[in-house]
Amino acid sequence: MFGAFRSLSPACAMPRILLHVCCGPCSLMPIVRLREEGWEVTAFFYNPNIHPQDEWMRRLEAMRQAADALNVPLMEEGEAVVPAFWVKALDGTLEEGERCRLCYRPRMERTAERATALGFEAFTSSLLYSVYQHHETIRAEAERAAEHCGAAFLYRDFRPWWRDGIALCRELGLYRQKWCGCILSRREALIQQEAAARRKAAEQEAKRERAARLAAEAEERRRRREAAEAKKRLREKWALMRGALQG
Ligand code: SF4
Repeated sequence: MFGAFRSLSPACAMPRILLHVCCGPCSLMPIVRLREEGWEVTAFFYNPNIHPQDEWMRRLEAMRQAADALNVPLMEEGEAVVPAFWVKALDGTLEEGERCRLCYRPRMERTAERATALGFEAFTSSLLYSVYQHHETIRAEAERAAEHCGAAFLYRDFRPWWRDGIALCRELGLYRQKWCGCILSRREALIQQEAAARRKAAEQEAKRERAARLAAEAEERRRRREAAEAKKRLREKWALMRGALQG
């Protein structure tokens, strides 16, 4: 079911584009750039790949904030899918990269269908902004969906505005997620975080060991220096005594 339009822009003669949005942060620069090009942008949130449900809701909320901040109409469709159903739908294609094609496909297809049904001149996706996504696969899936639905896909590479998007996201105080979306990517992110934490702990331990070794070496040097000085003083004392006895 379509959600309500969250805000409406005045009717104008600008060409209308349906922008599939994966999350608030990634939507910002595509909206800004498309507007600069003269498009009237409508955002379309359709992401059944985001798990678990509270994360899906959190990203939708961030998208609503972004839409409000930039005064962009937002269409919402779908709901959080039970992760097990989603993984089952992948039919054994679990490798990152391979499964992503199957994840982009329904999102691009639905966006192309809606763009056609609602009379938009073109559609595109905020996925083309992310430096972490498989850019060429997204493009291929969007072109495939466009052909299938008779819609026009507008290809844009929004990645050069990655840093501007992060700055704007911080300015707006939007939630930025820690993993791509699906339950598999969440598990992978956790594994990476744990590995990074282990690496950091090992580095800190190595630093501590090095500091302890350096301190022990310094202590040994000091001890040897003192022993050498004591020996020298003793030699000088004997020399003085010998001199006194001979004199
Ligand atoms: S890693 Fe991201 S793009 Fe790939 S399948 Fe998971 S949610 Fe989709």
